[in-house]
Amino acid sequence: MDNKFPGKDITKEDLKDKFPLSSSLNKKKIIQISKDITFGNNQVPIISGPNGIENKDLIFKCCEVLEKNNLKLLRGQIYKPLTFPYRSKKYFELGDEGLKILEQIKKNFDVLIVSEVMESSKLELMNKFVDIFQIGARNMQNFPLISETAKLKKPMIIKRHFGCSIRDLLGASEYALIEKNDKIILCERGISAPHTHKSTSRFMLDIQAIPALKDNSCLPIISDPSHACFWHEWVEPLSLGSLAAGAEGLMIEFHPDPRNAAVDPLQAINFDEFGNLVKKLRDVAKVLRKEIV
Ligand code: PEP
Ligand code: MN
Repeated sequence: MDNKFPGKDITKEDLKDKFPLSSSLNKKKIIQISKDITFGNNQVPIISGPNGIENKDLIFKCCEVLEKNNLKLLRGQIYKPLTFPYRSKKYFELGDEGLKILEQIKKNFDVLIVSEVMESSKLELMNKFVDIFQIGARNMQNFPLISETAKLKKPMIIKRHFGCSIRDLLGASEYALIEKNDKIILCERGISAPHTHKSTSRFMLDIQAIPALKDNSCLPIISDPSHACFWHEWVEPLSLGSLAAGAEGLMIEFHPDPRNAAVDPLQAINFDEFGNLVKKLRDVAKVLRKEIV
């Protein structure tokens, strides 16, 4: 295994030596989440819900929206990597208290919970209720966290850090695969890039990453337009664009009262907007011979 000059391009040697388990030299992985949900074939699962759980009432309402739209995968975030350390009545994360709510969701709804883990010390408790562990963009290169999470053998989503290359993302996924957990899903969620259209668009959705990752990796790739654009009005076009570009899943944020959401109030869409978007996604999926689940 030779070192090469630093660069972002993926070489044939990388596919063989740097990330042999996640490379496209392997058969494409189909990841079964439940009896009727898979990533990596013609199904396109939607993971949706608020940015954070906030409270029981709010998340129960969100679960009802999932049921109404025939969806099963809930964003059930209780630990949030907030960019600034200050918490207030308005900007908060639920933390450990949220574990009790996760339990109540499981008792009352037939949904599967996707939740971000930030510290391996929380894994054991979370493991009781979480069906898919998310490694957030900011922890994409926290390799001990990735390894410890992978050891639980549950499906995992690894989000691409906004400053990392596709090659780096595949390196991160290799840390999970090497623990003999092959249920790894990659997520494009926007990168930092100089751009001029709107200062509130925090990141730029790298739509090219979708076909590029499919060319270079055997892992399913999903897209998170909400975090990418940070701007609710663009979530619909970017969701439709991601699906058309080949995304094998979507993560979409919705909230009963988006502008008053505890975290990222500009990016969530409301219940009606979400329902309409799901309808449009189903229409486009049909043309592509895919199925939204
Ligand atoms: C999230 O999904 O809640 C999140 C914080 O996303 P990202 O890690 O992509 O910023
Ligand atoms: Mn967020």
